Amino acid sequence: MSQAAMFAGCPARGATDAAGGEDGGVLQVLAGTKSYRLGESLVPGLRAANLHLRRGEFVAVQGPSGSGKSTLLQICGLLDRLDQGECRFAGVSVAGLDESALTGLRRQRIGFIFQSYNLIPVMSVADNVAYPLRLLGVAEREVALRVEAMLARVGLAGLAARRPDQLSGGQRQRVAVARALVKSPWLVIADEPTANLDSATAGQIIDLLGELAADRGATVLVATHDERMTRHCGRVCRMEDGVLP
Ligand code: ADP
Ligand code: MG
Repeated sequence: MSQAAMFAGCPARGATDAAGGEDGGVLQVLAGTKSYRLGESLVPGLRAANLHLRRGEFVAVQGPSGSGKSTLLQICGLLDRLDQGECRFAGVSVAGLDESALTGLRRQRIGFIFQSYNLIPVMSVADNVAYPLRLLGVAEREVALRVEAMLARVGLAGLAARRPDQLSGGQRQRVAVARALVKSPWLVIADEPTANLDSATAGQIIDLLGELAADRGATVLVATHDERMTRHCGRVCRMEDGVLP
């Protein structure tokens, strides 16, 4: 995967190195604001968000429901744009990137894990994990090897042919972790990934995510109000009312 392909359409492609930002910074949000239009009114999602993720960090964002965690993760995952302030991915301001460049970055460099798993129900476990590699045009032989290794790594080697509805919640989230990490992304965004899991299973998922991210040098940003989760984090940021100081 060439860097030119990664930043296709991005004028500042030279500003990054091969592993996530010239100064080790994978992601920066500076004085970010974001509101949602709801009928006639504007609902503040982020009022003043600041974040700097260095390469390889495992960072939790904690805060009450409605404090803006998901909004922040959408911005960091390049799924949405700030109203004001700046978001820099690998040193490049995303304001200057068009939708196709953002889509390219998401596909190549960012893995997502959600509370509700978001697996594709009609696809097998193996095809769910293969999906991000196929989107990138990875050769099928290589896809098969990487998916097999990944499923073994997350403890699902025997379940490759199952569909998601034939798995437990913990197994589904293992599939989601495998899918997020299989392309060795720079950044993994996880929005309350253990909220639907019992305590023991949640602990296993957190350990797995931490280990896989460390293996691959990936940076992890996880939203949670789960104290168990934050025990594993290098850093915990507290968010309140759209403000992350
Ligand atoms: P959290 O993830 O911490 O629960 P959110 O980022 O989901 O917080 O929400 C922050 C604020 O933005 C809340 O007041 C919420 O109601 C509002 N909000 C989030 N998404 C939308 C949306 N799509 N439309 C309108 N308001 C929204
Ligand atoms: Mg949320």
